[in-house]
Amino acid sequence: MTESHTKPSGMTALDVDVALFLAAQAAYAWAHRHREIDNSARPLAALSTGAAYVNRLRVDRGLPIIPVGELPTLFETPILEWLPGIDEDFSLLDEGAPTPACHDLHSSGGSGVIGRLEQSAMPKIMDSVRLTSDPQSVYVETRRFLIEHAIARSRDAFELAIRLKVPFADLYQPVAEKAQMQRRGSGPVCFPCPRCSWPMAINRKAKSVSCSRSTSCWNAGSRFRLVDGSTELQEAGGLAAPTPVSSDGMVALREGLWRYTVLPGIEELQLLDELLKIESVQARLWPDLDAYDLHVSRDQLQWRVDVKDHATPHRIATQCLKKQAVEPMFLVVPDARVSQVTYLNRVVPMDQNYTFMTCSDFVRLVRGDTR
Ligand SMILES: [Zn+2]
Repeated sequence: MTESHTKPSGMTALDVDVALFLAAQAAYAWAHRHREIDNSARPLAALSTGAAYVNRLRVDRGLPIIPVGELPTLFETPILEWLPGIDEDFSLLDEGAPTPACHDLHSSGGSGVIGRLEQSAMPKIMDSVRLTSDPQSVYVETRRFLIEHAIARSRDAFELAIRLKVPFADLYQPVAEKAQMQRRGSGPVCFPCPRCSWPMAINRKAKSVSCSRSTSCWNAGSRFRLVDGSTELQEAGGLAAPTPVSSDGMVALREGLWRYTVLPGIEELQLLDELLKIESVQARLWPDLDAYDLHVSRDQLQWRVDVKDHATPHRIATQCLKKQAVEPMFLVVPDARVSQVTYLNRVVPMDQNYTFMTCSDFVRLVRGDTR
């Protein structure tokens, strides 16, 4: 056999990214096919589009074509088994329901509802911050508040909206029905995720409560069992069960802000804490009104850092390939995503000016560990 049968021809990280995104759209549409009363053709259209792009990659690698009808079964198996160019072992569906990675990919399109919400809130916050006497401090304070208040008392959330002169509804909303349950003898309660504090989704049929839309929270162990006839939760993933919170007088951050500000923000603040433990290190969050995430310095050395907490590395690769960094930029990923570093090093040429590493490796670098 000659090499040309197995060697990929012109496929790029972008092609893999598009195929993965469309496969996730197809899996998502398939999982929700029973809801499509008015438009039953949509899941099938999504399946055939997904299949077309997946098969384009497969043909390029000399692999057999997957019939459209077989895709729903494959969605339940690790993606690296059928989507070439992907090194990760998550699946898109789990017993018919979208996995956190599938949710993540599905909402990452930018054109979806979540993307639009985010795009409406953040520029308004930024416009308002620019009018203050100290925009940088107000920006850092506001962003920290959002990251630390995925669930908030209505009073505090209103105060923030008034201070920022941003419509309240662009920032917060009532706790979702699906995240609430009735407690006997009192009003409804919800369960803030122990990692991100956004109210977790309740699945009454499966008797489970989890931060099912966030891969990072899910992997960190934010999964619990409902106890019959009670509002107490039992630990099921490793994190201690949160105490139920009365949802009266509480509001939850809009999904876009939670997804694009809180989830990466948790990693950013954690990294900042670790760095500040190192002697003579100085670190600033979101310098120049969010030009990047962290500016770190120690003696004469300086680092510019962006923290990337994505389910898969393909979108990061696409962004890096599209735009060369003007100054050297460190892109760091959570430790659990170490496999993404290997992938990014392989597909993004060094002259794009990015260095990829895990958060722990970056802390070691700043500390000066030579190991
Ligand atoms: Zn969470």
